[in-house]
Amino acid sequence: MDYQAVLEEVAATAAPQVGRGQPAGYIPALAGVDLGGFGMAVADVDGSVTGVGDWQVPFSIQSVSKAFGLALVLARDGESLWGRVGREPSGTAFNSLVQLEYENGIPRNPFINAGALVVTDRLQSLTGDASTSMLDFLCTQSGNPAVSFDPQVASSESEHGDRNAALAYLMASYGNLDNPVPTVLDHYFWQCSISMSCRDLALAGSFLARQGVGTDGSRLLPARDVKRVNAVMLTCGTYDAAGDFAYRVGLPGKSGVGGGILAVVPGRCTLCVWSPGLDLRGNSVAGVAALDAFTSLTGWSVF
Ligand code: GLN
Repeated sequence: MDYQAVLEEVAATAAPQVGRGQPAGYIPALAGVDLGGFGMAVADVDGSVTGVGDWQVPFSIQSVSKAFGLALVLARDGESLWGRVGREPSGTAFNSLVQLEYENGIPRNPFINAGALVVTDRLQSLTGDASTSMLDFLCTQSGNPAVSFDPQVASSESEHGDRNAALAYLMASYGNLDNPVPTVLDHYFWQCSISMSCRDLALAGSFLARQGVGTDGSRLLPARDVKRVNAVMLTCGTYDAAGDFAYRVGLPGKSGVGGGILAVVPGRCTLCVWSPGLDLRGNSVAGVAALDAFTSLTGWSVF
């Protein structure tokens, strides 16, 4: 596969979508971001990485971090997480409160905010420092020791985090958080604030295409658990647009309101695309268009 040629064609196809949509206005530190950015990277299972556009420009990974959080907890704790969080699509917005009370404080899946807060809570109990353990993992797997938190984004989220606080306190009232709510929120905001490029993220997610083996050759997860993380990404990774994403792209994917999307072609490669203009569901408009173009052009989808 001539990745460079494919990526250039994909970028040209997605170009009319760049600049469309809105930034994540509810996080003031992200509200002013230039909507004109677009980058895409492919990390082949052989370890090589190819990119186009702004593929080496760091952006706020936001909810893409949720895929790594789930993997880190499954790696340490096996199946017990599933007693505290489901694995069904929610059909509601990523920050919705409505289902959570009906379902007794058990979030539908680990990729909506409520579910990610439970995962962060578990990672905190398992490691003593959830956000730093995620950062260490991302530095190692991307091979880039400069991957770091963005304190401005973390404090902006914290200052405007009433919705996430409401989700966390509601779950705490059902006994579904082990650590104090402020601790869980803090680690969650820090993990969302991590700043990485498409290159870094595609490499960091490589274990999802390599049956659990990371870029450093170490086994991060059993192949069985990688199948499971990818399945949850496919069904829940783009929230209430997961059906549309599966229809258009046909790959496991995890989006974030920073405009990034990580997608996996099992056995072949991981893809990361970034463009900050979001659709109404919080997914990158040009990012989804680019992934749609990539799988249409290559025929590489899971279907
Ligand atoms: N940090 C964001 C939030 O909690 C993450 C949401 C997202 O990327 N979908 O709202």
